[in-house]
Amino acid sequence: MTRNPRYDILFEPLNIGPVVAPNRFYQVPHCNGMGFLRPRMLAEMRGIKAEGGWGVINTEYCSIHPSSDDLPHPYSSLWDQGDIKAHGLMTEKVHEYGALAGVELWAGGGGNPNLMTREVPRGVSSMANPAGHPYQSRAMDKKDIRDLRRWHRNAALRAKEAGFDIVYVYATHGYLLSQFLSPIHNHRADEYGGCIENRVRLVREIIEDTKDAVGDTCAVAVRMAADDGTGTAEHPVSEERKAMFEILAELPDLWDVNITNYEHEMGVSRFVQEGSLENIMHYVKSITSKPVVTVGRFTSPDTMVSQIRRGIVDLIGAARPSIADPFLPRKIEEGRIEDIRECIGCNICYTGDSLSVPIRCTQNPTMGEEWRRGWHPERIPAKSSDATVLVVGAGPAGLEATRALGQRGYKVILAEATRELGGRVTKESQLPGLSEWARVRDYRVQQIQVMPDVDIYLDNNLTAEEALSLGAEHIVIATGSKWRRDGFGRYHKTPGLNLGPGEKVFTPDDIFAGRMPQGKVLVFDDDHYYMGSVIAEALVAQGSEVCIVTPENLVAAWGINTDEQFEVQQHLLQLGVEIITAHGVDKFDGTKAQLSCVYTERARTIEADAIVVVTSREPSDTLYKDLVELIDSRADNKPTLKKIGDCDAPAIIAAAVFAGHRYARELEADPEYTDIVRQDRLFDPG
Ligand code: ADP
Ligand code: SF4
Repeated sequence: MTRNPRYDILFEPLNIGPVVAPNRFYQVPHCNGMGFLRPRMLAEMRGIKAEGGWGVINTEYCSIHPSSDDLPHPYSSLWDQGDIKAHGLMTEKVHEYGALAGVELWAGGGGNPNLMTREVPRGVSSMANPAGHPYQSRAMDKKDIRDLRRWHRNAALRAKEAGFDIVYVYATHGYLLSQFLSPIHNHRADEYGGCIENRVRLVREIIEDTKDAVGDTCAVAVRMAADDGTGTAEHPVSEERKAMFEILAELPDLWDVNITNYEHEMGVSRFVQEGSLENIMHYVKSITSKPVVTVGRFTSPDTMVSQIRRGIVDLIGAARPSIADPFLPRKIEEGRIEDIRECIGCNICYTGDSLSVPIRCTQNPTMGEEWRRGWHPERIPAKSSDATVLVVGAGPAGLEATRALGQRGYKVILAEATRELGGRVTKESQLPGLSEWARVRDYRVQQIQVMPDVDIYLDNNLTAEEALSLGAEHIVIATGSKWRRDGFGRYHKTPGLNLGPGEKVFTPDDIFAGRMPQGKVLVFDDDHYYMGSVIAEALVAQGSEVCIVTPENLVAAWGINTDEQFEVQQHLLQLGVEIITAHGVDKFDGTKAQLSCVYTERARTIEADAIVVVTSREPSDTLYKDLVELIDSRADNKPTLKKIGDCDAPAIIAAAVFAGHRYARELEADPEYTDIVRQDRLFDPG
């Protein structure tokens, strides 16, 4: 297939200073939980994106000096020769496919307490650490500014030596250079504070230093927010910020433009839609003649074309769409739009950085496993035999197992008890704000439908005997889980409690089935991710008065890792949901619920007509257990049997997709292949 001429513009090369981007697909810098700690995993992951057609591939934030140390969040660094070597792994891979490699040089400022290096944080002013660490920054004096400029220049030279084509001046996201620009954070009385010219001085000097150091062969990009956070909903951009862009307009070779509100910039799809930065950043191209790029979780090629044609951007910036589908550009080029694995905007990818582990993606189970397990997002080893595989359950685990087994060439029978494919994803995507999650199902169903050797049987609630009678050589059970009604979870550690009258105690499964509680509803959220809050929202939408109770100190506390917690709590408060934190629900009599404080055990009573218990799930593994017995009782013709996904151990959707993919990869595979999970080390031991 060939590409639709409508998309030709996306494949036009573009000059960026002294270098040429081969097309308009630009992977902006994005964190990944690997950084300087795992250079081979990183190089392979970035290299695969270049193979997939991204014309520019950037690193994540890359520290210029030990005074910018963000551990426990894994950043990359360009401090010494070892770092040059490590980055060389990535630039080499990226160049192999004709893409440009960019590096986002980063000076942290007062935001990072330097827990590893123990350097005193340098800031524009002396101020409290924004993340709450009990450390303050030192207001940089003239020597600090001279040092910073020297460190940045030297890091740029090391970047050039490492083979980078684009070197960033990173002046946004609340880090040091953006603090100098800021009317809020810059309280200086010297020539770096006060009027606009003074506040842009350091950024201007560093752009000039960088151009002077490496501008002969490398493009210099500036990443800066189109607003400064002082605007209103009607007028998001201050005149002052526009004036700053005017002063700097022609200095860099490329503008990478974002917005001040990071939670919105990389907002979850529950709150933020595709292309949502446009209303703030659209003016930048009218100020500069240099190429402009921005992000917007772009997955639709038509939206991408429209962004360029309407003069909003020159390049399509992407972090998450390139994570969910490293081959997105190639698929557009080859006219395979329907094969694009669209990002669902869940931000599980961000948890790698939050939790200091390699990046994971709900849609792309190979993300982060390219080097460690040798997994490629598009290629998979061919089948090892002509065996048939029975997959039971068509949730994310069963669908991904089916898709990847089908890709290997196996004959697959997929049996699903209900009349719908998608399992929990189909149900959950009907809740407020989660509609894009259906893409987990849609991508896989689209792929499976065209596989001649995959047969799908809906409305087939299989028993063990029926499963065996199909004669498959391999059976994989992906029958999911059910939400518990007895409150068992982290707060109630004993199963089997009777929290209240049965007809007034609900679970998320009741809500999915349309069995809605009436009157004033108490949601007991001991799950701590999204489910409690989206159910609270669904109940508000049907007109209920809602109170959410959680033993944590925040609502949806795990959402901190996906950078959505603040917005979730803000949203619930705006909807009028009553929030009670640090309490558990002990009893409910149908009209009143008894709560107790997790710190003092002090009891408190609130009125409620019904409760929804969102605590933990029970694996639906009866079929698996029945099959174990039945197969054991057979003398021969024994199929292999395995359970995967939520019926094995309930977890997030990304874990179910991964389990399905892993099953398919490892079926009949050489143990040499399946046993090896490589440990990335800077230096191989001996
Ligand atoms: P996971 O997240 O692990 O993929 P889900 O709960 O999303 O799990 O999906 C499990 C699917 O398995 C559901 O669609 C459910 O209807 C189906 N299922 C459960 N039991 C059976 C059974 N005995 N036969 C066929 N399908 C089943
Ligand atoms: Fe998109 Fe979620 Fe994958 Fe991140 S983890 S790239 S948000 S699908």
